[in-house]
Order: sequence, then C-alpha cells, then structure tokens
Amino acid sequence: MSVVYERGSCPQVDQVIATSLLAQRPARAPDHVLENEAMRALVQSLASASDTLFHELVHHAQRLCGAESAGLSLLEEGTRPQQFRWVATSGRFQPQQGGTMPRDFSPCGEVLDRGEPLLMQDPARHYAYIAALEIPVAEVLLVPFERAGRLVGTLWVVSHSGARQFEGEDLRLVRSLAVFASAIATHGALVSALQAADRNKDAFIAKLSHELRNPLSPLKVAVQVLRRQSDDADPVRKRMLDVLDNQTTAMTTLVDDLLDMSRIREGKLVMRPARVSVQHVLALALERSQPHLQAQSHQLDIDLPAEPVVVEGDTQRLVQAACNLLNNAAKYTPRGGRITVRLRAEGRQAVLQVQDNGIGIPAHLLPRIFEMYQQAHGEDQRSQSGLGIGLALVRQLVELHGGRVEAASAGADTGSCFTVRLPLAAGG
Ligand code: ADP
Repeated sequence: MSVVYERGSCPQVDQVIATSLLAQRPARAPDHVLENEAMRALVQSLASASDTLFHELVHHAQRLCGAESAGLSLLEEGTRPQQFRWVATSGRFQPQQGGTMPRDFSPCGEVLDRGEPLLMQDPARHYAYIAALEIPVAEVLLVPFERAGRLVGTLWVVSHSGARQFEGEDLRLVRSLAVFASAIATHGALVSALQAADRNKDAFIAKLSHELRNPLSPLKVAVQVLRRQSDDADPVRKRMLDVLDNQTTAMTTLVDDLLDMSRIREGKLVMRPARVSVQHVLALALERSQPHLQAQSHQLDIDLPAEPVVVEGDTQRLVQAACNLLNNAAKYTPRGGRITVRLRAEGRQAVLQVQDNGIGIPAHLLPRIFEMYQQAHGEDQRSQSGLGIGLALVRQLVELHGGRVEAASAGADTGSCFTVRLPLAAGG
C-alpha cells in the first residue's frame, strides 16, 4: 500500500523532478528501423483519419521507449476546475483510461505550466492521487503537445520498476511522437468546429424554412381567391395572377424540400407506409410534373410492365422522389428533348429509370451528385436551377424505403439516366 501524502505535507515538486538525468545518462543508439515503421504506420492512420490515433500513438510510445506503460492526457474543455483526461493509456495504466486528474496538481499540469518536458522520479511522493492509484511509478517522462498553438496535453511513458531508466533517446522519440499528438489534436479540433458550424447551419436552415413556410400558405390562398374573382377578359390581370401563382408554387416546393431535409436529418420525417404499385406512384408523379414537361415541349416515352410492381412505401414520398427526377429531366434537357420512364421488376427489386437526352453530368461530379447543395453545371447552368437539394432528398427518401438510387451519364450533352431500386413488397 502506497503512502497517501496530503497536498502541502508532501515533498516539494522539485524533489521529484529529475529532468537533468536525461542528458546525464548514456543515450542508446537510435533504432531507425523500428522508428520508421512506427512513423509510417502513424502517417497512414493520419491519412485515413482513423479514430484510434491517440491509442496508436500511445502504443508506439510504449514500444519505442521500451516503457512499461504509456499514456496521453488531454485538457478537458470547459470544466471547472480544469482537469486532464487520460484519453489513451497502455500497460499497467490501461485500466485507468478515461479517468481524470486535476490540472493544478498533476505532473501534466506541471509540464504545461513550465512548457517543457519533465522527467519525474517516484512522483507519488508529491502527488497524492498517484499514490492512491497503487501503481508504482519509478519514473515518468512527460512531453507537452499543443492544439492550434496552445499547450493542451502531454504524452508520457512510465517505468514502474525502475529497471528502465529514460535517457536522451527516449526524450527525442517522445518529442517526435508529441508532434503527431499536436497534429491529431488540431485536426480533431478543426473537425469538431466544422461539425458545430454545420449543426448551426442546419438549425438556421430549419428555422428559416419554418419562417418562410408560414406566410406562403395564406399567399397561395389569396392568389386562388383573387383568381376566382378575376375578370378573365383582363389579360394583364390574368398574366399577373399566373405569375403570382407559379412563383408561390415554386417557392413552396423549395421551402418544403428544405423542411423535409431538416426533418430527415432530425429523424422527424413521418412515413405512412402501405402497399402501393409503382405504376400508381408514377401516374401521380407524371400528373404533377406535367406542367414542367409540357412547358419544354419534351416528348415523353413510358415503358411499364402490365403486372403491378408493388412496393411497401409512403405513396406521397415516393411521388415526391419520382417528381424530383422527372422535373430535373425536364429542367436539364433543352427544349423538345426526349424523356423515357422505364419500370421493371428484377429479382426482388422494383427498378425505375428516368432517362433524358439533355445536358448530361460531368463524370467527376457523378459520385457527389446526391450530396446537398451539389450543382453540376454551376454558373453556366443552361436551365434555371434550384438550391441543389432535390437529388439529396431523392436519395434520402429512397434510402428511407430501403432502396438506393444511382446516376449515370456519359458526359456533356449525352443525357443522364437515374435508376431507383426499391425492394418489392413481400408476396407481390
Ligand atoms: P437543383 O436542380 O435544384 O440544382 P438537384 O439536387 O435536383 O438540384 O440537382 C443537383 C444538380 O444535379 C443540378 O444542379 C444539375 O446540375 C444536376 N442534375 C440533376 N438532374 C440532372 C439531369 N437530369 N441532367 C443533368 N444534370 C442534372
């Protein structure tokens, strides 16, 4: 049982600090093969953004230094009093992983205060909580690392028995690894900041869509009332009402798409699944998309099987997905184009294709075309486009039905083909 020293009644911290020994002890020759191996493995993990990076770092620190334990302590954000968390530990400290220690009374705190590596001998003499752990620590070598320019943690290696005495080569190795710790911590902070900004943006878009949606319904009703009372003989008045009607409908569609994306992200989209034939879904979608198809004088070819192709789904949501594909085909195909809608039952899947002979999609954008806000044709978009959420919504809706959607195009002006696969309903 170790002696538990109370703060104040224990030896001064300077009595446990023995950093000068590192330079006095003979340094072993570097093992470049082992070191290169570790560095290469770490760089590979960094490149693949592995989430076990801190653990790998600790493992390499222990191995390269021939230590009996190693660990990485990170200052916690926003805790008062401040504390370090052992985010990764190995050897005899492994069971302590996830534990915390006070910022102001710990070897790590001392290292951060001084801003330099420290070697401590028998630190339990000074730090009561280390004594309380009942893990003998003959020596611990701690090296600070920073995140975005501020010291935030330490990487440390431990000799429990004292058989291993750390020297200059250990300091060099842990210093090198601490640079990785800085890179990982800085990268992690950037990712967290981006995720927070993304969440804020999503929350803002959700709120904005709600605020925009509210005045749209009364506007639409007002247009309809005016239309009923309008004098058909007045062509200007009729044209103005058409403009109002079309624009409020277009805005409502955009805002509804935004609201749906927010609902999907928050898991709040309500689905009403039932057995429905894809032929029925297509009939409703084609009726709704008719104005878009007609406005561009497109020729429409429909190729449907005689037998109903039945899926388990929310009819309105499936119609919405099909409409987005049809409207896009109409939008991104020059006037007088040809749009083909095909449906087949293949194995246990319903396969629906919407093909056009329009402006096509560049090959490098195909893999990202279903991401939010992706627009393939940017500034030089030949037709009027929306917000770049239609296809993202299609993918989400299709996936909520257990299906998937793919886009294909041989490039500019060769047309595009979107294929939706949905599982067939059981028994039909
Ligand atoms: P939006 O049409 O509002 O821009 P979408 O998410 O529906 O957004 O589509 C994303 C992008 O994909 C479009 O901006 C367009 O560049 C491209 N795209 C979609 N459908 C087609 C199509 N049938 N032919 C060519 N490009 C298309």
